[in-house]
This record gives sequence, structure tokens and C-alpha cells, in this order.
Amino acid sequence: MHPTTIDLLYGSSLSGKFQLAHRLFAEFGAQFLSLAALQDHLITLRRLQDDVHRCMAESGMPAVCRNCARSNATGGCCSHAMTDENDAVLLLFNLLAGAPVELQRNEGAECLFLGEEGCSLQFKPYFCLNYLCRRLRHLTSPALLGRLERASGLLLQEQYAVEQLLLPLLDGLPQNGCQRAGKNATVKDDFQESSGLSFFQTATTP
Ligand code: SF4
Ligand code: SF4
Repeated sequence: MHPTTIDLLYGSSLSGKFQLAHRLFAEFGAQFLSLAALQDHLITLRRLQDDVHRCMAESGMPAVCRNCARSNATGGCCSHAMTDENDAVLLLFNLLAGAPVELQRNEGAECLFLGEEGCSLQFKPYFCLNYLCRRLRHLTSPALLGRLERASGLLLQEQYAVEQLLLPLLDGLPQNGCQRAGKNATVKDDFQESSGLSFFQTATTP
């Protein structure tokens, strides 16, 4: 039995999800980016991400995490197993937002997206964005922690909204974004006519 589109987007090997995201972007990125709704979301995503980064910078978290990852053989909390938290939809909207999606290493200990300067992804999985270890919590004032948690929550909500916009286009389900914007339906139809499930079935790696 062939895997479903959802299986492939979320349940493939990392290499399968990585290649799928890149192929989807190469073949359909321009069509997705022509959607006004997606453009609006990308603007909001960048603004919310700036808010998160500002809070993190104020607390000094990036330097602490960088040092932690460098001094820890397993990459701090960015361990190899965490790589798989990234699904093809999240990687795709990193690409749609103009962010590079490149594997940084493959040494078996750290997350494959962990670069020399920390996480190389612009938009990260739920766990990565939501996790603050005890050291970071001690380092941060309650007021700043509150601001950071609110900002992260809003960013995660927006990431979820983008996922909900893209999924019907990818999966061919007539819901959410497809019903909201006539233009979306065109993209979905093009997508299905020119590729459909066969696109996904050839996009996986053994
Ligand atoms: S969140 Fe904590 S454990 Fe993870 S890299 Fe940062 S300092 Fe280290
Ligand atoms: S995706 Fe980024 S934040 Fe998450 S584990 Fe990997 S390097 Fe760390």
C-alpha cells in the first residue's frame, strides 16, 4: 500500500522529508508565493520571530546555548534525535520564507540543523521553540520570561496557521485555505493535475 501524502510529509526519514521539501519548493514555490494569504502570513511570521529573537537577545540566551552546545558532546538539548522533529511542511515554509534549509553536519550526536552559530533554521519545531532548560529559566527575569513565552506562543500559533494553509494544497483536501481564497484552489488544481500523489511517491528515498 502506498503511503499517504501526510505519511510522506510527516513520517518519512529525515532525508526523505528534506528532499521532499526542496522538491516541493523548486516545483511549486512560485505558485505558493503568489498566494496573498501566504504572503500575509510570512510578514506576520517574520514580525513574531523578531519579537522572539529580541526577548532571547535581551536575556543572553543565544550565547549561553551556543556555549552549551559547543561544550556538550551531544549538542546540548539539540541532540541528533531532535532532527526528526522537523517535518517536510515546516522545512518547506522555511524555504518559502527565504530561509536556507541545509544540513549542517552528520556526526550522529547533534541535530543535523545545528550549525556553528546555533540552530540554522529560521522556523523551528514546536518543541525547540517551546523548550527552556532550568539554566535559561534562572537566567531570565520573570517579566522577560513572560514576554518570551507569549511571543513564542504567538509564533507557534502563526506557524500552525501557515501549516493549515499549506496542508490542503499539499494533500488535496478541500478545506481551510482552499475555501477561503479562490486563488488557492487554482494552485491546488495545478498541483494535483501536474503531479498529484505521484509527485510524493517519487519524492521519497528508500
Ligand atoms: S536550552 Fe539549555 S540545555 Fe539547551 S542548549 Fe540552551 S542552555 Fe543548553
Ligand atoms: S531544529 Fe534547531 S533548535 Fe531544534 S534541535 Fe535542531 S538545531 Fe536545535
